[in-house]
Amino acid sequence: MAYIFCIANQKGGVGKTTTAVNTAAALARRKQKVLLVDLDAQGNATMGSGIEKNDCALTVYQLLIGEASFDEVVCKSASGGYDLIPANRELSAAEIDLMQLKNPDRRLQGVIEKISDRYDFILIDCPPSLSMITVNALCCAVGVIIPMQCEYFALEGLSDLVNTVRRVRQNKNPKLQVIGLLRVMFDARMTLQKEVSEQLKENFGDRVFDTVIPRNVRLAEAPSYGEPGIVYDKTSRGAKAYLAFGRELIKRMSNFKNDSEHEEK
Ligand code: ATP
Ligand code: MG
Repeated sequence: MAYIFCIANQKGGVGKTTTAVNTAAALARRKQKVLLVDLDAQGNATMGSGIEKNDCALTVYQLLIGEASFDEVVCKSASGGYDLIPANRELSAAEIDLMQLKNPDRRLQGVIEKISDRYDFILIDCPPSLSMITVNALCCAVGVIIPMQCEYFALEGLSDLVNTVRRVRQNKNPKLQVIGLLRVMFDARMTLQKEVSEQLKENFGDRVFDTVIPRNVRLAEAPSYGEPGIVYDKTSRGAKAYLAFGRELIKRMSNFKNDSEHEEK
């Protein structure tokens, strides 16, 4: 069974897709079988994985509404070394179309459940909203990874997201946890960023990942070449940080597994 994580933050442009693509590639490089699900109509994770979104006749949209099977939609990111469920602007219709269907919040779960034993990790790149699409991701995940910039307003939105996670846990998916907050686009020269980073550690303790992703232009350049940053320039500081994050995630998950086995006894 795969570990299923969603990369979520309803704030736009905080580094969700960069984290999803690079973490998928970092895990794949560590010999993990990885599926990345693009759940955003912008299709940035699709393009960043080297797949032209407008050439995809079948995408996550058909999968959600039951018009295509997983095997018909899944494709391979050659640059990233993982499997991808692509998305494009068609997904923007899904919010309304889903409401006509039974269990609109569990459509993705129904699909993922059937194929999760093919993978070690399934990562879901969420859109910048707390919509029905995001709830679909939260319903099938065990963990939420929250990328955030260490800025004053970042903390404001965090409580809405944490409350949504709590509500989904109570009503729909008891397994769901915030696995961790990932500090991204970090600039150590800025005092405010260091202060907010400390504040995060005080409030969230070991739910803040040790790895910090620096602001690094190579990570921003990579998508236009259809490659994850860790492939585009593996020597860059950004690449090294995401590789370290992949290692940290695998380590955390083996502890997580031991803890839950311990609890079951
Ligand atoms: P959206 O909410 O629109 O889906 P997002 O949260 O997925 O956005 P990204 O697309 O990953 O955010 O990042 C936003 C912008 O910041 C992009 O141009 C990306 O290349 C850039 N970026 C992300 N992480 C870094 C980083 N560590 N260093 C420099 N630039 C970065
Ligand atoms: Mg994105």
